Amino acid sequence: MKLEGSCHCGAVHFRVESHTPYPYMRCYCSICRKTAGGGGYAINIMGEAATLKVRGAKHVTAYQARLPAAGSTRRARSPARRHFCARCGSALWVADPRWPEWMYPFASAIDTPLPKPPEEVELMLAYAAPWAEIPSGPQHTHFSEYPEESIADWHGKRGLAVA
Ligand SMILES: [Zn+2]
Repeated sequence: MKLEGSCHCGAVHFRVESHTPYPYMRCYCSICRKTAGGGGYAINIMGEAATLKVRGAKHVTAYQARLPAAGSTRRARSPARRHFCARCGSALWVADPRWPEWMYPFASAIDTPLPKPPEEVELMLAYAAPWAEIPSGPQHTHFSEYPEESIADWHGKRGLAVA
């Protein structure tokens, strides 16, 4: 599936191929909340990095959060690069050199109509804002941090991978 995305001001447009376009994963971590998620969470999907084409790339800036390192009082720069438009601030996609074949567009940046997920995952709930309403019920699976199941496996097991 070909996905088209853009920022709000229109300086940046991008397109990418994705076999995993269901926006099912709501991340409640502080970085997603502060940088992209006014509802207390942000949603990333997954595309193939090699197919990414960007128009207006000079307006794209990346943010690398500093996170507390295990067993240390110092903060270390996260390898994950959260790309956003320097003109309007729209969150665009996350790229991480640990998984170079993928990139993770924010669902909010995608203009192509995405398929509606039949169920959802709420993750990083250990970091959720106390005011955030966390949906629950049979269609919702909760994780205090990251789930084991990858985005590709989630789509594959449910027969939702798209050609
Ligand atoms: Zn913009």
